[in-house]
Amino acid sequence: MDKILRINMSGSNGPELSTEPLGAYTGLGGRAMTSSVVSSEVPPTCHPLSAENKLVIAPGLLSGSAAAMSGRISIGCKSPLTGGIKEANSGGQPSQMLARLGYAAVILEGKPKDGALFKVVINKDGAAITPDDSLKMLGNYDLVEKMKTEHGEKIACISIGQAGEMKMSAASIACTDMELRPTRHCGRGGVGAVMGAKGVKVIVVDDADTQMRSPADPEKFKAANKAFVAGLRKHPVTGEGLPAYGTNILTNVINEAGGYPTHNFSSGQFEGASKISGETQAELENERGGKGSATHGCHRGCVIRCSGTFYDKNGNFLTKQPEYETVWAHGGNCGIDDIDAVARIDRMDDDFGLDTIEMGATIGVAMEAGLAKFGDADAAIKLLEEVGQGTPLGRILGNGAAVTGKVFGVERVPVVKGQAMPAYDPRTVQGIGVTYATSTMGADHTAGYAVATNILGVGGNVDPLKPEGQVELSRNLQIATAAIDATGMCLFIAFAILDQPDTFQALLDIIGGFSGQPLTADDVTALGKSILQKERDFNTRAGFSSKDDRLPDYFQNEKLPPHNITFGVSDEELDQVYNF
Ligand code: SF4
Repeated sequence: MDKILRINMSGSNGPELSTEPLGAYTGLGGRAMTSSVVSSEVPPTCHPLSAENKLVIAPGLLSGSAAAMSGRISIGCKSPLTGGIKEANSGGQPSQMLARLGYAAVILEGKPKDGALFKVVINKDGAAITPDDSLKMLGNYDLVEKMKTEHGEKIACISIGQAGEMKMSAASIACTDMELRPTRHCGRGGVGAVMGAKGVKVIVVDDADTQMRSPADPEKFKAANKAFVAGLRKHPVTGEGLPAYGTNILTNVINEAGGYPTHNFSSGQFEGASKISGETQAELENERGGKGSATHGCHRGCVIRCSGTFYDKNGNFLTKQPEYETVWAHGGNCGIDDIDAVARIDRMDDDFGLDTIEMGATIGVAMEAGLAKFGDADAAIKLLEEVGQGTPLGRILGNGAAVTGKVFGVERVPVVKGQAMPAYDPRTVQGIGVTYATSTMGADHTAGYAVATNILGVGGNVDPLKPEGQVELSRNLQIATAAIDATGMCLFIAFAILDQPDTFQALLDIIGGFSGQPLTADDVTALGKSILQKERDFNTRAGFSSKDDRLPDYFQNEKLPPHNITFGVSDEELDQVYNF
């Protein structure tokens, strides 16, 4: 990856493409690349939908190589949802393909003057952009079908649905999976709205006639990759639990721990949890003939394979196996215990191009406001249809939980920095509460997944119900996560590398073997810290202060059943997270 593609949408004669060497961004990938570019080139106080904002799409450092698990793509910008810096990442095929084509980043900047919509095609011959109004208001599924017709079946697409075109703050960017379906999403923070503001509907990537990226030290790289894969296969989470049941194996686990936010975060247990659990879901998929439901990767080179395929009652493909966060957001959080309804909503989110976490939290807030009854799946589907149609109510909902709560006068709105909390209540899983409060991204479980140590006993044990030890836990995980997000590695490798020193060493050796320069654990920590410092600095310049590193008051005032406790980490302790 030796070049950056810039597409200036403000060109006087239409969009202008240019390719440049990496320069100051040499050696960066994934989140390290996106956050460096946004931090250096985007004015922190600009409007997120303005010409000044930039959308940065970056494969991970190891993407496009033979390194297992290395196909995550990062997309960064100033977020329309939080007003701060944003990095959202996704699986799917585009990262591997862009990397093989030699692009370390694609940067969309400026803004088209006349609201035209464009298609970008990137292949071995270079990049081209063309206006194409026939793409207007297509859902992601129809859009990808059209791209298949025009460009063949060996492509990958990075695209937005109707929500991105309408510049909704909950809009995602879809990445196609190995079956060329738009099921993988850079979901969080409204990155889709920024792509919509740039007037780019789809980026078609075609890596035909390109080679896999070669390591500098092939022998070391190969041996390390072998040891790394063996380590992933022997860990109970990455070798057994995730492949068998997908991420939704967590429903029963988190529910039993009393940390499963139910009815808009008013209880920690959901009585219908067993009906939507990973075990139930896997059984149903197998009954319906879901071939490969237990062993499915979202991109080439995944060996954990936590994904699957969800078929409807007639045995037809409906969506990918809905992930834990999605099942929670549209399930327990809204009191819905119908897995078929949840899967249908997942398909709608993917098609409209919406973040499932933000939309589930938003519908939960709407239910608290009385727009629908908790448990009413048909009503939830109708609300989501309004979003896709862009009705006035739909536009409110499509701008997320914070906007919806404000419009309908709801006090209990589970957001930090304007972004909805995911599927773990911070009163019962206090480490994740620290991450929600202090992450540069707003409430985001993936920024520092303290659930691993609080609940799953991975990387040690820290009592989830007590404030002690949570700041240090979250700090260390946030640093490690930022570094992993730079490599293009799926975050689920963390289960194995936290528990197994030899698997962590294998990861270091993969990176060292690829670059030709030995890497130590200290180097990884330094990388993670530098990413977080850039992001935090951007947010400070955008106007954020310690008052933004807080959970909403009700998490301190309202006891959560069944443990009947509140969030106990003090403001003073939260302010210590970034003291490194
Ligand atoms: S483990 Fe799951 S999310 Fe990660 S790369 Fe594999 S299929 Fe994708």
